[in-house]
Amino acid sequence: MTYRSPVSDVLFSLTHVAGFNEAIEEGIFGEFDAQTAASVIEEAGRFATEVIAPLNRIGDLHGARYENGHVATPPGFRDAYRAWAAGGWAGVTGSPRYGGMGLPHTVNAACAELWNGASMGFALCPLLSEGAIGALSAYASDELRGLYLGRLISGEWTGTMNLTEPQAGSDLNAVKTRAERRPDGIYRIFGQKIFITYGEHDMADNIVHLVLARLPDAPPGTRGLSLFLVPKFLVKPDGSLGARNDVRCASIEHKLGIHASPTCVMIYGDGDGAAGWLVGEENRGLAAMFVMMNSARLAVGMQGVGIADRALQQALSYARDRRQGRGPNGGSQMSAIIEHADVQRMLLTMKALTHAARGICHLTAVAIDRSFHGKTKDERRQAGERAALLTPIAKAFSSDVGDEVASLGVQVHGGMGYVEETGAAQHMRDARIAAIYEGANGVQAIDLVHRKLPLSDGQAVAREIAGMRAVAAEAAATGGAAFGASAQRLVEAIDALERATRFLSDSLSVDTRDVLAGATLYLRLFGLALGGACVAKAGLAAQSLARRGDSSQLGRVALARFFAEKIAPAAAGLENAIRSGGGALDQYEAALAEGT
Ligand SMILES: Cc1cc2nc3c(=O)[nH]c(=O)nc-3n(C[C@H](O)[C@H](O)[C@H](O)COP(=O)(O)OP(=O)(O)OC[C@H]3O[C@@H](n4cnc5c(N)ncnc54)[C@H](O)[C@@H]3O)c2cc1C
Repeated sequence: MTYRSPVSDVLFSLTHVAGFNEAIEEGIFGEFDAQTAASVIEEAGRFATEVIAPLNRIGDLHGARYENGHVATPPGFRDAYRAWAAGGWAGVTGSPRYGGMGLPHTVNAACAELWNGASMGFALCPLLSEGAIGALSAYASDELRGLYLGRLISGEWTGTMNLTEPQAGSDLNAVKTRAERRPDGIYRIFGQKIFITYGEHDMADNIVHLVLARLPDAPPGTRGLSLFLVPKFLVKPDGSLGARNDVRCASIEHKLGIHASPTCVMIYGDGDGAAGWLVGEENRGLAAMFVMMNSARLAVGMQGVGIADRALQQALSYARDRRQGRGPNGGSQMSAIIEHADVQRMLLTMKALTHAARGICHLTAVAIDRSFHGKTKDERRQAGERAALLTPIAKAFSSDVGDEVASLGVQVHGGMGYVEETGAAQHMRDARIAAIYEGANGVQAIDLVHRKLPLSDGQAVAREIAGMRAVAAEAAATGGAAFGASAQRLVEAIDALERATRFLSDSLSVDTRDVLAGATLYLRLFGLALGGACVAKAGLAAQSLARRGDSSQLGRVALARFFAEKIAPAAAGLENAIRSGGGALDQYEAALAEGT
C-alpha cells in the first residue's frame, strides 16, 4: 500500500501539543517562522512519499549485498539518496557556516519521522550522519570541522557511529579497540567493531566513521575512551579525496528486518593502523559520543512513530476493504471488518499510541531546541533537564509503540498479515530493532530511574508531572461530555506516576534492586501518563478550533477519550507492580532455574 506522509498530523502535534509555534513566536529562533517550518515539513513529506516510499519494498526484498569488501545498496537507493542530499535534507540543522539550513532540531525530528515512515532501511543512513554532524559541530577542532562538516552537511559524505564490539554492547566499559599516538599527531586505530550501520555502502563518495577507542595509558572503563574521526578515504588539505584508509568492511549481517540498511563488521588497522583524528579531548570521548547518541535516541523514537503511522495507514485501509462477519449495521451482507468492535479497538489503540509517542518525541525535540536557544541561562538549563528526562522515554516508549502497533497491524490483516506480500509483516520486522539499538530499552529505563529522576532533586520530574496535571485540569474544566471520563482517568494515571516516582526516588538510596526491577515498568507508566496528556492536549485544541468554526479535527477528542478510558488505566497496574519492589527477586530467580 502507498505511504502517505502524515504531514497534517505532524504539524498539528508540533503546534498544539509540543508548543513549537510558541517557541517560534518567542523569537528564540530569530527570524525563523512557523510558515517556513510548515513548508519545509510539507516538502519533506512530498519527497518521502514520492521518492523514498516506493523503495521500501524493494529494499526489503533485495537487501544490501556484500562482495569483496564492497556493499551495494538496493536498486534505486543511490539515486534516491543523491536526490535527497541535493535537496539539502542532510543539512536541515547544520550550521549555515558550513552550508546547512540552520533550522531547529524540531524540524529535523519531524522530517525524520517522514523519512522513516517511508523507509526505515533508507532513513538509517541520514540518521547516523546527523549524529556525526552534531558530535563534530560540538567537539571537533576548527580544522576537522573545516574539512568534514561541509561535506557531511551537503550529504556528499555520510557518517557512522562505532561503539559496539563483540564483547562490548550495552556495556561500553569493555571496549578494546586501541588507539596509538604517533609523532605526526595523527592517531592509529586497531580493532574490530560490529553492527555498524551503513559502515560501508555505495551511496556517497566517502564515509566518516566516528570510533570509540582506548589509548594505551587510558584509565579503565568508559573514562578511558576517546573519540576518533576515521575517514574511509583520507582527505587532503584542499578537501579532495586521497588514498584508502586502513579500514574495511569484513561482512554484513543477515537480519530480521531493515534489510536495505547494511549492518557491518568493520576492521580497523589490518596494516599500519587506520589514521584517526581525535575529536574533543583524550579520554573524554564518551561525552562527545553522547551528543551523537542523544540525537540518535530521539531519532530512533521517531523511527517508532514513523513505522507505527505507516502500519496504521495500511491496517486502516485493509480494514475498510476486507469483509467478514456481520457488524452492528451489517444486515444480510458481510461487513467491512472495521465495523467490528474488536477491530476498532486494535485500530484505535494503534492510532492513540502513535499520536501519544509522536507528542512525546516532539516535546523532547522542542526541549532540545530550547536548551540551545532559550533566552535565559535558567531557561536553557531547565530545558536541558527536560530534554535529558524525556530522551529515554522518547526513545524507548516510542520504539515499543512502533513494535506494538506494527504487530497489531499484522493482526488486523489476519492471515494476510502473516503473508509477506501485503507488507504488514515488513513493518513488524523493521520496527523490532528500534527497541534494541541505540541503548536497549531496558538500559534506557535504567538511565531514566538512575540518572534522570534525581535531576535537580526531583524537580525535573515534578515539573513534568505539573504540566500533565494542567492538561488534565483543562480537560476537566472545558472538555465537557465529549471527553467522557478522560480527565478522571488521566488524573488517576498521573497520580500513579507520582506515587511510583516517590517510591523509586526513595528506593534509590536504600535498595537499588527495587529501582532496577521497576525501571522498565516505570518508563512505560511515564509514557502512558505523558502520552495521555499529549493526546488530551490535542483533543482540547481540536475543541477550541471547533468553537472557532473548524470542526475538521474533532476526531482527536474521541481519540483522547479512547486513550484515557482504554489505555491509561494500565497505569494503576504498573504502579502496583513497581511498588511491589525488587525484594522478591531472589525468590523469582528460582523460577528461572534449570528444570523448573
Ligand atoms: C541492526 C543493528 C544496527 C546497529 N547499529 C549500530 C551502530 O551503527 N553502531 C554501533 O555502535 N552499534 C550498533 N548496533 C549495536 C546495538 O547498539 C547493540 O546491539 C545494543 O546496544 C545492545 O547491545 P548487545 O547487542 O551487545 O546486547 P547486550 O548488551 O548483550 O544486551 C542483551 C540484553 O541484556 C540487557 N542488558 C544488558 N545489560 C544490562 C544491564 N546492565 N541491566 C539490565 N539489562 C541489561 C539488554 O537490555 C538486552 O535486552 C546495532 C545493532 C543492530 C542489531
